Amino acid sequence: MRNILLFSAGVDSFIGYYYLRENYDVPNLTLMYFYNDKIPYAATELKYVLKFRDELMDKSADMRIISYPQYYSNIPCTDSFIPARNLIFALCTCFKLYNDYATAYLQSDGINIYLGGLRDDRIGDNSPEFCKHASKLLSASFDEQVTVKSVFDYKLSKYEIVEWFLKNHPLLAQHLVTHTFSCYSPINNDHCYACRACFRRNVSLQNIELLPFHDKQKLNDWIIEMKEHKDTYDPVRYEATLNYIEKLKQQEGEL
Ligand SMILES: [Zn+2]
Repeated sequence: MRNILLFSAGVDSFIGYYYLRENYDVPNLTLMYFYNDKIPYAATELKYVLKFRDELMDKSADMRIISYPQYYSNIPCTDSFIPARNLIFALCTCFKLYNDYATAYLQSDGINIYLGGLRDDRIGDNSPEFCKHASKLLSASFDEQVTVKSVFDYKLSKYEIVEWFLKNHPLLAQHLVTHTFSCYSPINNDHCYACRACFRRNVSLQNIELLPFHDKQKLNDWIIEMKEHKDTYDPVRYEATLNYIEKLKQQEGEL
């Protein structure tokens, strides 16, 4: 059995690494990072991925850094949406294993490909339905049992996986601040603290450190939008978001 975790050094895949090792039997664990030099945050993301590999990753695990397929990396994408990303990653992972471990691959009893899928962050190519279809399609295509699934089985929210991590690894809490990265437009190789990716990360890490958010206009717009569409949000995510904003306001009031 080969076990693959799609890794990006974001909060989800960072915690996913620990959660996977502690809740599943995952021999031959390989972390796969897909590098796309066409997206503005790739160089900074890669820096964090390597920092994780060199400073925190267990030596029994393996990490592969793979370039995006040439054509795919030219597809225009918005900040938050890169079409069919997880399908391409899963497909490239199978090809990579096929090339690298041809003999062992043919004798293996299947491949598990883990995404960091959350309850409150389901999108087209990161959802239980996607996993079911991708598993079928890849198993048929490679004549091998390929299972695509979420480390968290889509049962936990971003806030809850951080809670899990704090409970099980209290001494490593600060690493979530120093060793995770998600930002759409980094400044000087670090977070901009003004984009939606930074905002979501800040919300999830609020019990470790109250990280700043610089774009007050965006913050106000998002609160209005959230309150208007309260029913469409996961309740835990909704609560955590408002709590973070409240704490920020309190802190500014004190300044
Ligand atoms: Zn940012």
